[in-house]
Amino acid sequence: MKRITIVGGGQSGLQLGIGLLQKGYAVKIIQDRTADQIADGRVMSSQCQFDASLQHERDLGIDFWQDNSAPVEGISFSIANPEGPGKVIDWAARLDASAQSIDQRVKIPRWLAEFEHLGGKLDISVADIQTLETEAKSSDLVIVASGKGDIGKLFERDAERSPFDAPQRALALTYVHGMTPREEFSAVNFNLIPGVGEYFVFPALTKSGPCEIMVFEGVPNGPMDCWRDVKTPSEHLAKSQEILNTYLPWEADRCRNVELTDDGGILAGRFPPTVRKPIGTLPSGAKVLGLGDAVCLNDPITGQGSNNASKAASVYLDSILQHGDQPFDEIWMTETFERFWEYAQWVVRWTNMMLLPPPPFVLDIMGSAQVLPGLAARIANGFNDPRDFFPWFADPTAAEDYLTSLQAD
Ligand SMILES: Cc1cc2nc3c(=O)[nH]c(=O)nc-3n(C[C@H](O)[C@H](O)[C@H](O)COP(=O)(O)OP(=O)(O)OC[C@H]3O[C@@H](n4cnc5c(N)ncnc54)[C@H](O)[C@@H]3O)c2cc1C
Repeated sequence: MKRITIVGGGQSGLQLGIGLLQKGYAVKIIQDRTADQIADGRVMSSQCQFDASLQHERDLGIDFWQDNSAPVEGISFSIANPEGPGKVIDWAARLDASAQSIDQRVKIPRWLAEFEHLGGKLDISVADIQTLETEAKSSDLVIVASGKGDIGKLFERDAERSPFDAPQRALALTYVHGMTPREEFSAVNFNLIPGVGEYFVFPALTKSGPCEIMVFEGVPNGPMDCWRDVKTPSEHLAKSQEILNTYLPWEADRCRNVELTDDGGILAGRFPPTVRKPIGTLPSGAKVLGLGDAVCLNDPITGQGSNNASKAASVYLDSILQHGDQPFDEIWMTETFERFWEYAQWVVRWTNMMLLPPPPFVLDIMGSAQVLPGLAARIANGFNDPRDFFPWFADPTAAEDYLTSLQAD
């Protein structure tokens, strides 16, 4: 029986670990926090997942929140008028299949229980390089799925695939109850505030039931990069409302009666989006393979991290199963990551584009979506598979050709 060790029991590590257990592999996950510590801790993400990544969870039978009462049925997009009140662009479109966001404080403890129920070995400890050396000796394969954890620095930054070397947004999350629901259908309401940043909000399921997650993406050193002096949960909520009152009054109107879901329902931080080389070499020369955010970390602006982590775990699972009894050598590790990268490169490219001020041809696309419902629907459903944005969302000539063809229809 093949033995596989995974460092990090988050979205990607647990999904892969559970998939391997179901196929008869011996799996050990080293995870730095217990289920209770995760459940009682702070929120970590807004984790909105679209249909294709949810399908991987359905395939493994770990979609324990199918009947959740907080589906995300569409995407809306607006640009606030930089000259005065109101919006210069405003449209909404339904997703072909609903998305959903399950607070990782709910999801990860449930998956940890499932992992142990299936016979997985859970080691609650902080893995370091020595741990990896020990595991590399006793396992056929060591995978590092440590998210933004420091141990991921063992993987070299891939400068060619990482255009930014500094954080591009000051991030904040605010989980609330009591927000006025969006009319017509539930959605990720994405608002761009030129020069200031972005705010998006959508329904989710948290420990205390359905909630809304407010996500703030402030341009560094701009007015929405404002969380350093916020000390308490109530100050965090007040700051969230102050931003909406100042820049997005239509969103502020939905928030007159909001309250935090709990004191852990807040987060503020920043990190540079970074792609790393997927193979880490230990001092002994042994090789380990990176998975998920550890080697492909995107800014949350496009809400792709958990989706990517799920898709990566699915690719790695297939690749391990296909490899049978052969050794998991460097060639196999490279091929496995590159299979994922064939997909992920488009997500990374699109996400990094969205961090820059939109060029005129992208504004033209987003504006045209107001009068072309088919275009709006295509953009909305692109969140499920961002490969569909290329080339027309990235190249002015392709954009013009595409818009001309739509207008001729
Ligand atoms: C503000 C914010 C908003 C986001 N919103 C979205 C969104 O809307 N949609 C979306 O798809 N994604 C979103 N994401 C990203 C998403 O949460 C991550 O991409 C996803 O969780 C990555 O999964 P992972 O398995 O790679 O890592 P994680 O889920 O982070 O899991 C890593 C695990 O490893 C553990 N660990 C770390 N170091 C060690 C160690 N040394 N030893 C043992 N264990 C260790 C950690 O505690 C953690 O449990 C958001 C992220 C942020 C920060």
